[in-house]
Amino acid sequence: MTNKFSNLAVAGVQGLNPYQPGKPIEELERELGISNILKLASNENPLGPSSTVLKALEEDLELALYPDGNGFTLKQALAKKLAVAQEKITLGNGSNDILDMIARVFLCEGREAIFSQYAFAVYPIATQAVGAVSKVAAAYPKDHATMPYGHDLDAMLALISDKTRVIFIANPNNPTGTWLNKTALSAFFAKVPSHIIVVMDEAYFEYVDEAEYPDSLAYLEDYPNVIVTRTFSKIYGLASLRVGYAVCHEEIADLLNRVRQPFNVNTAALIAATTALDDDVHVKNCADINRAGLAFWKTACKERGLDFIPTAGNFITVDMGQNAMPIFDDLLREGVIVRPVANYGLDQHLRITIGTEVQNIRCLSALDKVLSKNPSQADPS
Ligand SMILES: *Cc1c(COP(=O)(O)O)cnc(C)c1O
Repeated sequence: MTNKFSNLAVAGVQGLNPYQPGKPIEELERELGISNILKLASNENPLGPSSTVLKALEEDLELALYPDGNGFTLKQALAKKLAVAQEKITLGNGSNDILDMIARVFLCEGREAIFSQYAFAVYPIATQAVGAVSKVAAAYPKDHATMPYGHDLDAMLALISDKTRVIFIANPNNPTGTWLNKTALSAFFAKVPSHIIVVMDEAYFEYVDEAEYPDSLAYLEDYPNVIVTRTFSKIYGLASLRVGYAVCHEEIADLLNRVRQPFNVNTAALIAATTALDDDVHVKNCADINRAGLAFWKTACKERGLDFIPTAGNFITVDMGQNAMPIFDDLLREGVIVRPVANYGLDQHLRITIGTEVQNIRCLSALDKVLSKNPSQADPS
């Protein structure tokens, strides 16, 4: 071969690693020939969408025609629900699509994006794919009093240079679950220069049950450089349809719209998301089940002497006290898929999505079985 194609790729792409998704159920079925697999690996909603969504899809889905490229009905419903002007809303093929649009509009070679250590893996991909440089701020240390592994906003501010154009903040963050409170965020916004775009990724917004957790939409008025992103993949249970949205200043929305692919959100996604927005009862039920599940897992971890990262999302990232990869592999053999996070530099942790009560019990008993075969070196027993 004369060409080494990786040398032909643009520099940013040469240095990238692909996003690693959770292991699909079918893949594990093929590999181990087992069935009845439990996947708690991608922060999906164990209840799925509400029945009204399924009914709307059955009745209204039109496959032969292109979708409404402006997503009028969904935007209108979002505008009403969030009490913002429709011109401030951009729809995405998942909120990942929006993160990509933001990078294409505001980043390029010679520019920098800032995010925290342990922040969502899509930020470096979106940044480096367009030739910009990732500046990674050290997170709070693991012995931090209130938010171990959390975003350190002062460390992020300290990385601002004349090349900085975007700051990505996940609140709560994935894969840690850590979150930022109103006081910290308000102080941060007051210090960020107004020409730097601050992305508030709120994929888990609807799950958060913390009194001091901010709703970033409230900052848009004072800080028009803020873009809030949310998704229908998590609490609305529509991960497979790929639909998310951004709320931001209408001039920024206009810029995002210039690079948005025509028809980026498909008709099924538009119908399902519009219908799902109305179903407050289902959303509350999902949040309630998540709250109970989080309490279950926190208690279980404490009883077993397993440290976990503080979390406000629909997942908990647990320190196995040893290399987590063999634990992950043994759990697969028990038919349970969780998420290794070694690609984030967290090689002792596993991220477990909160399931239903039955699922949580099954996952925990599989974990107990696996841990009894792999006792932690720190374990005195
Ligand atoms: C899951 C997740 C998203 C949402 O991704 P979609 O593309 O909307 O499915 C965005 N940000 C974070 C931090 C996430 O964990």
